[in-house]
Amino acid sequence: MKKLENLIKTYYGFPKKGIAFKDVLGIIQNSEVFRELIIKMSSHQIIRNSEAIISIEARGFIFGSAIAFQAMKPMIVARKPGKLPGELIEGNYNLEYGKNSLNIQKEALKKFSSYVIVDDLLATGGTADCVAKLIRENNRYTSGLLTVVELLELKGRYRFDFPVESIVKI
Ligand code: AMP
Repeated sequence: MKKLENLIKTYYGFPKKGIAFKDVLGIIQNSEVFRELIIKMSSHQIIRNSEAIISIEARGFIFGSAIAFQAMKPMIVARKPGKLPGELIEGNYNLEYGKNSLNIQKEALKKFSSYVIVDDLLATGGTADCVAKLIRENNRYTSGLLTVVELLELKGRYRFDFPVESIVKI
């Protein structure tokens, strides 16, 4: 999907020095490419193999909910602290450019047995690993990780013991 790659713009030094930030928002500004991408991601084996999707705030929501619609799968969310009501489970992780925490609603996670994690981009894998740990700790199963972009040199995929798929490998 060459057209897709061309819509991902790189911002050097954002959000801090040394980071090449991949801005995926150009994809949703092109409805044809966005639609093609969602159809491709939705028909992926790891989506079919899982009962539900868990998407990660915030750009993961854009792709996750469109895939949920197309694949007719339920979706739950992992959000940054202070955003979700109810009883929560929390995990902490290191980001390529900082630290963060993610919350999941306990009741929502309990509803389904297996999850595919959906996010915009895989870098070090710390974010997805945080979600996978929360899934495991709550006796649920991660069937895979699916992202739009993967930064190959950070080798994030090798930390996971489940299938990892990405559409654009940079
Ligand atoms: P990581 O936990 O290192 O795999 O980072 C993945 C998460 O951080 C995703 O939610 C991305 O949105 C964001 N992220 C990390 N590095 C970048 C980057 N170079 N460009 C854009 N987003 C990034």
